[in-house]
Amino acid sequence: MAIRNILTYPNPLLHRVSEPIQQFDIELAHLAQDMVETMKHANGIGLAAPQIGILKRLIVVQVPDEEGHLGPLYTVCNPVVTQTEGEAKIEEGCLSVPGLGVEVDRAFEIILEGQNLDGSAFRMEADGLLSICFQHEIDHLDGKLLVNYVSSVKRELYRKEVIKKVQLEQKDEKVQL
Ligand SMILES: [Zn+2]
Repeated sequence: MAIRNILTYPNPLLHRVSEPIQQFDIELAHLAQDMVETMKHANGIGLAAPQIGILKRLIVVQVPDEEGHLGPLYTVCNPVVTQTEGEAKIEEGCLSVPGLGVEVDRAFEIILEGQNLDGSAFRMEADGLLSICFQHEIDHLDGKLLVNYVSSVKRELYRKEVIKKVQLEQKDEKVQL
C-alpha cells in the first residue's frame, strides 16, 4: 500500500475520460487501498482514480456525519447515477483544484449503481453531502473538474494564479540549493 501523488489542475490527465473496469482482480483491490490511503492522508472525503493518474472508473468516498464522525467507506467501480431527486448546492472544493471553491448544481438524492471490487452489483441511495460527493467523483471519471463549472474569466484567473504559484515554488527551490 502506498500514498500516491494527487495530480492537480492543469494536468491534462484530469480532463480525460476514464475507462470502465473489466477486471476485478487483486491489482484493482490494491489500487483501491492506495486510493483510500491517499484520500485519508490528504484529508479528503472522496477520490477518483484519475486524480492519481489512473484512468479507470473507480471512486472511493467517506464523508463525515453532522457531528464530524466518519461514515462508512464506499469503494465503487463503474459508478452510475440512475435516478435523481431534488436539488442541492454547496461550495465544493477539490484536492485536484486547490484553492478554488465552486457551487455546483447537483441532485439532492440519487440512486447510485455500479460494482463492488469483486465485480458484484452495487446499488444504494444517497442524499445530502454523500450524494454530492458521489456526483463530484463521477465528474472526475468523465474528465470534468470544478473549473469546468466557472466562467471562462474566472477559470483564466485561476489558471494564471496556479502558474504564478508554481513559478514561485520553483523559485523557492532554487533559493534552497
Ligand atoms: Zn475532486
